[in-house]
Amino acid sequence: MILFSEAYEIVMGNCLVADTEFVSFADSLNRVLAEDVRADRDIPPFNRAAVDGYACRRSDLDKTLAVKGLIKAGEAPLFKIEEGECCKIMTGAIVPEGADFVFMVEDSQEAEPGKVRYTGKTPKNNISFRGEDIRQGDIVLKKGRIIRPQDIAVLASVGHVIVEVSCKPLVGVISTGDELVEPDEKPEPAEIRNSNAWQLLAQAERAGGKPKYYGIAPDDEDVTYEMVSGAIAENDIVILTGGVSMGDYDFVQDVLKRAGVKILFDKVRVQPGKPTTFGTHQGGVVFALPGNPVSCFVQFEVLVKPFMYKMCGADWKPAVHPMKLAAKYERKSAERAAWVPVRITDDFRAEPVEYHGSAHITAMPYANGLLFMEPGQKIIEKDETVMVRFI
Ligand code: AMP
Ligand code: MG
Repeated sequence: MILFSEAYEIVMGNCLVADTEFVSFADSLNRVLAEDVRADRDIPPFNRAAVDGYACRRSDLDKTLAVKGLIKAGEAPLFKIEEGECCKIMTGAIVPEGADFVFMVEDSQEAEPGKVRYTGKTPKNNISFRGEDIRQGDIVLKKGRIIRPQDIAVLASVGHVIVEVSCKPLVGVISTGDELVEPDEKPEPAEIRNSNAWQLLAQAERAGGKPKYYGIAPDDEDVTYEMVSGAIAENDIVILTGGVSMGDYDFVQDVLKRAGVKILFDKVRVQPGKPTTFGTHQGGVVFALPGNPVSCFVQFEVLVKPFMYKMCGADWKPAVHPMKLAAKYERKSAERAAWVPVRITDDFRAEPVEYHGSAHITAMPYANGLLFMEPGQKIIEKDETVMVRFI
């Protein structure tokens, strides 16, 4: 049995590298940028009025100024500002030649028809100068970014309409177990609904993957082998759930070996998720996660998700924040490390969700973070600061 940190290193050390493809910037949300994006022009592209007001010479601020005309946004000025002159100007318009100051409408007073005076006190020029934010050719978005709405604004503003992104990792998902029926079926008394596959498909999608569902493998080695081989051939990552413990029907590891998977670990000193299994084959990797829904969820978050982001070249890090523990937490055994699901309280403390073991599926919707406990660490006192990893 290896430490969780060792399992993590093995997983990350066997990462794949995603191909890249080109997509429209409008479809690039949540994709991983696979190129540096540069500005095609200075930003701002001209000296721009930052307020609605009057453009003039700073040295004329104490004079009554003749209003020469008006420049609206989107219009090139047709005149220069000379001494004793100003012009009306709208936010976003080009500051005309000769002017080095814009004062707000609120800081002006009409002296006589066609003439205004500056009445303001601040010496702020209200001009955004050409290239002040970005110079043409500068990198505006770095390779590895997970594209967010504000990045799409940048892509739009520099006209980068076709974007190179990493291909989405193909993720095949298989459930195992004769006791499972699909959510739209009515379970017999000894049956339960398959929740893990649907949870995993959603997790894989959220982590930027392209999930494909292969169904429930029955507790039959040959059928499971056929399904696993099919999924392995079609995906970068195959995730199985269930069938990795010590039960008589837990033969997933054997099936994986038969399918040409080299198993790199099959037990981790972590709770929940001890039977977590990871292996590689020529075309990709396989994670065989525990059948218990909480274990399955957690191990995806802490192993599969970082793998997927690394595969895409993303500069992703889990969001981890220090928080005080809302109440003392004690676990029964500290033999393994633990990922404890916690809820963030209204006063921003971490509170372990009440959860009766790794099958307690209805506890998880209340968890918005995980806290890590090292092997040997049994108690965390109230008000102790813990690092909470957001999920
Ligand atoms: P196993 O590792 O196959 O023995 O499964 C461990 C526990 O998780 C058993 O109680 C299973 O019924 C349950 N389980 C396995 N797969 C799923 C699944 N896809 N959805 C919900 N529960 C599952
Ligand atoms: Mg099973």
